[in-house]
Amino acid sequence: MKRQKIVAGNWKMYKKLDESHALIAEVRGIVRDEYRGEGKVVLIPNFLALPSAVRLLEGTGLCVGAQNAHSEDQGAFTGEISASMLQAIGVQYCLVGHSERRQYFGETNEICANKVKSLIRLGIKPIFCIGETLDQRQNKRHFREIEEQIVQGLFHLDRKEFAQVIIAYEPIWAIGTGLSASSDQAQEIHAYIRKLIANQYTEEISSLIPILYGGSVKPENATSLFLQPDIDGGLIGGASLRARDFIDIVKAMR
Ligand code: PEP
Repeated sequence: MKRQKIVAGNWKMYKKLDESHALIAEVRGIVRDEYRGEGKVVLIPNFLALPSAVRLLEGTGLCVGAQNAHSEDQGAFTGEISASMLQAIGVQYCLVGHSERRQYFGETNEICANKVKSLIRLGIKPIFCIGETLDQRQNKRHFREIEEQIVQGLFHLDRKEFAQVIIAYEPIWAIGTGLSASSDQAQEIHAYIRKLIANQYTEEISSLIPILYGGSVKPENATSLFLQPDIDGGLIGGASLRARDFIDIVKAMR
């Protein structure tokens, strides 16, 4: 069995509803005209645009993801959206533990672990984000940090559950800064993640888990990153807001 390649566009808190609709339509049109590959393309707009994104992308092969989900199905959690609410409208993917959520909203590995469990129970694929700060890398603590996030955020899952996970390695110093990790730096961490998974589960499971790279991916660096043996695509922030750039990144998936 071959590993699934994925390019996902995280639109963050950008694009009002009409702007989201316009970008969805633009991406849908160019993907239809220009992309013949087998990789999955996932659009991750804000919550308001999710129902229409599901509708506009139905039957196109493009998928819809959410940026966050609460782990409880329902309850007195003002301002939150549950994984079961996302499931009810047909959302297929969901980010968990993006560094902006960890940094600004206090999301811990434990909170992430609960979200992942809930999403998998409901058949939504979690895109679990991990990454180190510049300080951690400079002090050679990046491997330890990555291991801790994976162990605490994912290793409570059994084998069957874990097989549903997608991992996105996003060095925090590379997110939105224009400073991408080099292909070698990214490959080194991706190979390390695969080793951790093989040790915890099996070689086979490890070989089948998609591991995406994120952090200032652009059309100019996507090909060299995606050619690395353990990099299975990308999680794209800024460049996913420009249809042309996003499609050029999608086309770098071989
Ligand atoms: C992100 O937010 O997940 C991201 C990778 O952003 P950017 O591509 O803008 O660095």
